[in-house]
Amino acid sequence: MTREEFEEMMTPTFLIFGEKLEEARRIANDSLSRFEPVYVVIASISCWIMLSLAWRLVCSFYDLLAEQGLKTALVKLTLTCIKLIPGANDYIKKEQNKVIDKLQASMKTERECWRSELPSAGLGTQVIEQLKAEKSRDKKWQGKCSGAVYIGGSETEGHFSLVNEAYCLFAHTNPLHPDVFPSVSRFEAEVVAMTSALFGSKHSASGGQVCGNMTSGGTESILMAVKSSRDYMQARRGVTQPEIIIPVSAHSAYDKAAQYFKIKLRRAPVKEDLRVDVQAVKKLINKNTIIIVGSAPGFPHGVIDPIEELGALALGRGICFHVDLCLGGFVLPFAKKLGYPIPAFDFTVPGVTSMSVDVHKYGLGPKGTSVVLYRDHEIRKTEIIVFLHVGTLYGRIFWILVLDFEQHQFVAVTDWSGGLYISPSMAGSRSGALIAGAWASMMALGEEGYLDSVRKVMDTSQRIQKGISLIPGLYVLGKPDMTVVAFGSNDLDIYKVNDVMASRGWSLNALHRPASIHICVTLQHVDVEDMFLKDLEESVNIVKENPGKFEDGMAPIYGAAAKMPDRGTVGDILVAYMDTTC
Ligand SMILES: *Cc1c(COP(=O)(O)O)cnc(C)c1O
Repeated sequence: MTREEFEEMMTPTFLIFGEKLEEARRIANDSLSRFEPVYVVIASISCWIMLSLAWRLVCSFYDLLAEQGLKTALVKLTLTCIKLIPGANDYIKKEQNKVIDKLQASMKTERECWRSELPSAGLGTQVIEQLKAEKSRDKKWQGKCSGAVYIGGSETEGHFSLVNEAYCLFAHTNPLHPDVFPSVSRFEAEVVAMTSALFGSKHSASGGQVCGNMTSGGTESILMAVKSSRDYMQARRGVTQPEIIIPVSAHSAYDKAAQYFKIKLRRAPVKEDLRVDVQAVKKLINKNTIIIVGSAPGFPHGVIDPIEELGALALGRGICFHVDLCLGGFVLPFAKKLGYPIPAFDFTVPGVTSMSVDVHKYGLGPKGTSVVLYRDHEIRKTEIIVFLHVGTLYGRIFWILVLDFEQHQFVAVTDWSGGLYISPSMAGSRSGALIAGAWASMMALGEEGYLDSVRKVMDTSQRIQKGISLIPGLYVLGKPDMTVVAFGSNDLDIYKVNDVMASRGWSLNALHRPASIHICVTLQHVDVEDMFLKDLEESVNIVKENPGKFEDGMAPIYGAAAKMPDRGTVGDILVAYMDTTC
């Protein structure tokens, strides 16, 4: 068929189409002519707004569907609709308040005599007596609390007093003023250097450029690493709609980072051994992914994610990879030296771009100390060579490169009437006491001190692990790599066991999905493992014999939370609870 033949054949179709179009236009104009033009404009704009709202609703429902499955998505949608019914919201609030009242029951009468104003005449040194009196009413955590306090022995002796003394000596210093307190600047640099050396900074595979800063804790270290990686990926790859992928077992600090820094969070499932499923992470990576996360180990079950595989994945896709060593930082390097089978976890693993290491956990420093580390300075700040400037001066040609810096972690302010300002992390003023306390802890212990304490906590946790596996009715979750032992039960309500343990002074961590509890073994537990195992076995037996009892502890709340299909409602209750506390 020639072109002419084709056109001839198609002409009637075009004509009919044109006529139909013309007719439609006429009908539309006729019917719209009844309205004033301004109404037509308003109606079009409203329609457009409604459609875009509906589109957004569809998109967020689709996201929910993809992330949490059909059941949760439908429940969420139904709940949202129910909340729109007049009165329903009030009813839900009333029910929530009942739960909150229950959570607060023990505090309520006490709160009534809490101060709400300054005392008109100051108490002077008497206040110290009051502090001591209040402290004496706190729970006796010695030897009975999972994690929380990592230093061993009594609070007024040994390593405790050493850290306290260092803290007091520097309580009024501030690294924001390095000219006034050069000592603190030196301590911070040395804490960072000593910590990086534990993670391969001296090894050629690290690239020899590891750098970092001290922060107020694991969460701030994670916030900084995620924020720097976001800005780095925007500068390098132009990512403007950043996404982060974390294992479901990763710490809640990543949710905080995602919320604070407007990053979309995606969760990858763990495998049967409770380590993240690397294939699932791989599937979640897209052009917006800025960073993936692996924990060494994760807080809930104390198992190390496959760091080498995740590193290879990140390297291959050109994205950042954060290793969470908040808990494991001051254990794994030493446990490895002691001969425990610890997989690779540090900067010698290709692809690792940042890590967080808490000094206030197994580093045995004061609370409020952590280190964020980067493989190189580029992630923390990108240097951009902007242009080549050529000019003449005194008759000679000269050229300069104009450098610009993209600040990822730091904030520099040069236009403030308060002068030139530079700050490395979230806080402005920081406590030199914390830095000095961390430095003192590391220097006082040295490598031998840490080897010694790690040997003790590893031994103790292995004995606890073995003991738990011998208690009928209990099983240990996964294969703990370190000092966190999580356990559950197939035939008992494990939260009730937790409540009975609590009545005996034990403060363990309740976990869910699956329902379980854990103990994070610290130096406080060395020599008390027999008492722990005995109490645990007895608690298990008590629950076995009285399965219907213990309905007024935390067990029913955890039980209910586990059954609620919509986690948002549980979140609302938590927020409402916190909102009433201060
Ligand atoms: C403790 C911990 C963190 C951070 O917690 P902070 O309370 O802010 O110090 C992050 N990740 C893991 C695995 C942790 O154990």
